[in-house]
Amino acid sequence: MQANRHYQPSGRVSPLALPLIALALPAAALLAALYSYLTLYLPIVGYFTVLLTAGLGFVVGALAVAVLQRGRARSRLFAAVASLGLGLFTLWAMWVTWGYALLHQQDSEVPLVALLWPPNLWELIAVVNEKGAWSIKGATPTGAILWIFWAIEAAILVGLPVVMGLTVADAPYCEHCESWCTHTKALFLTPLVDKDLAAERLERRDFQWLESLGSLERPPPPKFTRWDLFECGCRATNAVSAIGIEVGVDDQGKQKVTESPLVQTVLLAPDAVPAFRSLAHRMEVQA
Ligand SMILES: [Zn+2]
Repeated sequence: MQANRHYQPSGRVSPLALPLIALALPAAALLAALYSYLTLYLPIVGYFTVLLTAGLGFVVGALAVAVLQRGRARSRLFAAVASLGLGLFTLWAMWVTWGYALLHQQDSEVPLVALLWPPNLWELIAVVNEKGAWSIKGATPTGAILWIFWAIEAAILVGLPVVMGLTVADAPYCEHCESWCTHTKALFLTPLVDKDLAAERLERRDFQWLESLGSLERPPPPKFTRWDLFECGCRATNAVSAIGIEVGVDDQGKQKVTESPLVQTVLLAPDAVPAFRSLAHRMEVQA
């Protein structure tokens, strides 16, 4: 009973997904090459390098999201494997182009093709690891320390696409009209609710309880619940999510927003959607 009250991805994927992934590979390779040249020729290593790494991870993640959305991936396994594959491919392309750029910087005439062969690439990486790749504050990390830096870089380049790609498979999709549901974020805001209580009330479609919470004015206090609605064109698939939001300050004094899902995509009957929308309207008017 519990299971079908929440949206569950069907596990299906459009056959279009595979050619789309094939198209994404050269794009990822180009981005990786751009990153390689920027990091190699960048005079300073530090904060900006980390931003560049995160930037590449994010752009490749966005590429994975675009491919999975257009390929209608409603399978977590497929989304995970596809975005992991794209992330690993980017990492490999980054090392190939970085190694090539490094060798040419040192007037070596090694052709790019030679580095496509993994044992050759590995040999080059091992040599660079012994000698060090860059210096920061007068120190040149080598050996284990450099491996740790590279491992962090790899984790960002592969991890970000996987995390971003997986969100696609979890987004509600209507199997009747074959389209992704429209996501309305922050239809209304209420004080922070208890996770278990909210799940129980929502599964019973207890809208009176929701209304009794009272809507919050915007801008809201530092802790609140955001209510999101998912609707499809044919009205067969609709869902609601509650997300706990906490606005705080991080160590550097910057604003930090933490989102924690309280209730994820509880399905709504087609006739419950207008009721839910009018409830949202009443609550916003009261606030
Ligand atoms: Zn539909």
